[in-house]
Amino acid sequence: MQSHRHAVVFPLVIGLLYYLGAWVGVHFAALESGIVILWPPNAVLLAALLSQPPRRWWPLLVVVLASEVAADIPVFTVTQALLFGAINITECLLAASLIRFFLEREVGWHEPKDLSLFLVTVFFIASPIAALGGASVYSFLLTSDTPFLTFWRLWWIGDATGLIILTPLLHMAFSPGLLQRMAGGTWPCRLELAGAWVVSLIACYVIFVLDLHFEKYLALSPLAVVAVPIWVAIRFGTLAGSSLATAVALFVAFATASGLGPFVREQQDHSALLTQEFTVVFIATVLFVAAFVHQNRRKSGELHEALVKVRHLNHELEERVRQRTQELFDTNQQLQTLALTDELTGIPNRRRMKALGEEEAKRSERSERPFSVILLDIDHFKQVNDRYGHAVGDECLKAFVRAIAPSLRSIDRFGRWGGEEFIIVVPDSDHVDLVRLSDKLLRCIRAVVVTVGDDQIDMTVSIGVAEWHHASFDKLVSEADDALYRAKAQGRDRAEINVRGLRVIE
Ligand code: GH3
Ligand code: MG
Ligand code: MG
Repeated sequence: MQSHRHAVVFPLVIGLLYYLGAWVGVHFAALESGIVILWPPNAVLLAALLSQPPRRWWPLLVVVLASEVAADIPVFTVTQALLFGAINITECLLAASLIRFFLEREVGWHEPKDLSLFLVTVFFIASPIAALGGASVYSFLLTSDTPFLTFWRLWWIGDATGLIILTPLLHMAFSPGLLQRMAGGTWPCRLELAGAWVVSLIACYVIFVLDLHFEKYLALSPLAVVAVPIWVAIRFGTLAGSSLATAVALFVAFATASGLGPFVREQQDHSALLTQEFTVVFIATVLFVAAFVHQNRRKSGELHEALVKVRHLNHELEERVRQRTQELFDTNQQLQTLALTDELTGIPNRRRMKALGEEEAKRSERSERPFSVILLDIDHFKQVNDRYGHAVGDECLKAFVRAIAPSLRSIDRFGRWGGEEFIIVVPDSDHVDLVRLSDKLLRCIRAVVVTVGDDQIDMTVSIGVAEWHHASFDKLVSEADDALYRAKAQGRDRAEINVRGLRVIE
């Protein structure tokens, strides 16, 4: 419903504005000779075309043609009015189509690329082509002494100036969200903006109406009116900048058309040209400044966003590296534990016991406190395996380990030396009665019973002990092994001890 109403109301508003534009053009922007400094209505049509999809263009064209005829009829015939209408419509259609074709999206007045395209299209393509038609009507249908090329140039620059000064602002006004954008901002900003308008209009009045240009001491260049709109464009963006710039440009054009200000020359087309050059360059400068500032802000915003993203990614990466390092560390720990642990019994394996024994030998070397090595070999274990099978043998090995552990101190290290052979490293063994310890171990193992079906397996162990006497760990192991061999030879289930290299018979 709303869009239906918009489809009817919008073309009517455009028609009215077009008529108003023509009226303003004739009454305020034309010099006495009839030269129009800027022609506003075409900007109304171009802005409307740019704000609508092409399927909504035709009502605009119909309404605009009617307005053109209504505006021209007091001076021209209907045919001439229709021709002028057709020329103006062609100009706007050409510009709008080209801009649409090259952009494939809505015009963004804060995009330098869009601005360049608009300026080139309007100034170098649409206006000069339309001016050919306008000059032809004047030269061939109306009686005039002015040469064709002069008509052409006047039409071209007048149309281009009107389009360049007014289209961006009107297009922004026709786009949705204008009121919100205007209502936004804080009070200090609004005050600053109002101040800028007041200063600009006073500058325009002083320079163009009071004509101080010719005063010796108060001479002000017309360029003085440029500064504040540029300031506003930098501070508040395209909409605020181009609003003020357009107001200033219109002031300059209307003042010159009324014969006021520093651009008035003896020859009226010179006055027109000066004003046109000034206003076009001025508007383009303000728009480009606003666009570059906007682009710069957007890019630094994007840069900031990218930086935040990179920091976030970096943080994530660091966290992942930390996690992986921890996982690797844990796995490494596990691997190390596995590499140093006997799989079947869970006690340290030969490699671990060798390292521990060598460490203990070094410590004894430093502290002069002896340690001992106890080797234990289960008696006739082969028979267990042969009779009950390997699995039962394994159970017996586990039962053996469980039985030994409680007899040891926390500082004693118990490990599997290989097969059914075990080793105990006993630190500070000068405080340990090795004979009593060996005895205790023999008794522990005698007490072990492994039940298999109706059978009970008993175990005994032979023990060989060697006490440190400045010998290496390997040497001590070999001495303990000798003692063990003796224990076996002397009937098993007994211990043989070498205390500091001396043999003790148990
Ligand atoms: P002794 O020491 O009294 O002279 O006799 P023994 O029968 O124990 O002699 P030997 O040392 O030759 O045999 C050891 C046996 O231990 C041989 C092997 O089958 C068995 N054995 C070694 N490691 C394992 C093991 O991990 N599991 C099982 N079930 N048996 C093992
Ligand atoms: Mg053995
Ligand atoms: Mg054995």
